[in-house]
Amino acid sequence: VAASTAPEWAAEIIAVGSEMLTPIRYDTNSLFLTAHLNALGIEVVGKRIVGDDRERLADAITHALSAAQLVILTGGLGPTEDDVTRDAVCLALRITQHAHAGVLAAIEARFARLGRKMAPNNRRQAMVPEGAEIFENPNGTAPGLWIEKDGKVIVLLPGPPQEMRPMVEVSLLPRLRQILPPMFLATRRFRVARMPESELDALIAPVYTKYSNPATTVLAKAGDIEVQLRARASTREAAESLCDEVARPIEELLGNRIYSRNGDPLETAVGHLLRDRGETVAVAESCTGGLLGMRLTETPGSSAWFRGGYIVYHDDLKRQLIGEFHASPVSEEVAQRLAAAARERAGATWGVSITGWAGPDGEQPGLTWIGVAGADGVTAQRFQFFGERDRDRTLAAQTALDLLRLRLL
Ligand code: ATP
Ligand code: MG
Repeated sequence: VAASTAPEWAAEIIAVGSEMLTPIRYDTNSLFLTAHLNALGIEVVGKRIVGDDRERLADAITHALSAAQLVILTGGLGPTEDDVTRDAVCLALRITQHAHAGVLAAIEARFARLGRKMAPNNRRQAMVPEGAEIFENPNGTAPGLWIEKDGKVIVLLPGPPQEMRPMVEVSLLPRLRQILPPMFLATRRFRVARMPESELDALIAPVYTKYSNPATTVLAKAGDIEVQLRARASTREAAESLCDEVARPIEELLGNRIYSRNGDPLETAVGHLLRDRGETVAVAESCTGGLLGMRLTETPGSSAWFRGGYIVYHDDLKRQLIGEFHASPVSEEVAQRLAAAARERAGATWGVSITGWAGPDGEQPGLTWIGVAGADGVTAQRFQFFGERDRDRTLAAQTALDLLRLRLL
């Protein structure tokens, strides 16, 4: 395959093995491959898991070849009857295979080195389709195979991850670089807290849908969204400027809702803001039971900005921290007093509090007050979350971190 004839490169991955069609084994090889292919500027446009069946596999290969220039198979290169990948490839490509003296010698040498007797079955692994190039396998018996046919590339890799991974790095990637046009990848990441996915997408889709390069991905989880841009070009400068063209208007639209541009999670972004200002925070939590403190301690070096906190789950403990109160424990007054007390008791620059009905029981499941106390005063805000315990607690901790972040800007 000549570099000049290669247009945009697309790949299909086929993971071979019936065990991965059950709940007991996962296909992780394709994830590893995808990360490396993407880094080379090759897009994975489809993947499939196929059981150990020669005809089905041949069908899958034929289909993959119609969709992509590069088809990578992993697994099914072993010595047993149910390892059918080589046979299926020969069937799909209408090519023959022959015992390869060099591969056979390498397999025999491996058995001799390990002091084991070679089973006759292992000879199957020395079968090589006509015209195939061989990738050595220093970590197992089955070599990898690289086959070019009709402008397409078909690659066969062993299934065990400890054999496949080094083969990808040592043999496959350098071989791919030989045939790929020069390609540079530029990326941008923006993380945003507390914005509903639909709202964020409505805001930025008018910008990114005009471009296929960079490609834009929006990844959402509870209260946390990441926008990723990936641009490809034949020079690094061109890739960066393609990214900038889309990143700039997106950054403008999202403004200070962006809490990180390097992938850092919210607790790290907040921690680093505090560190840069030489400030500290302490927490008082009720319904989150320590989740906020846990998140604030997840970043290495957090002792520089996190003083500690109080888990005041029962109202008796709230009273021990703030004194008598007659309002509801989930109220503006209690949230403010908890935040102020955490700040003072712990000797921190900032105090943050969370008090809410975690649900499914309680007066008003999902109702949460979050307080932030600083030198310039105490504020508290009311939130009505979903009344789903896990999700609400995650959202409460996320919201508390983001409210503190906004005060620090
Ligand atoms: P072997 O010579 O060991 O039989 P093989 O190339 O035939 O090698 P398989 O038999 O398909 O490989 O798989 C061997 C082991 O590797 C199994 O434990 C299997 O679960 C694991 N494996 C295979 N494919 C994958 C995959 N896509 N992701 C993760 N693990 C895999
Ligand atoms: Mg096998």
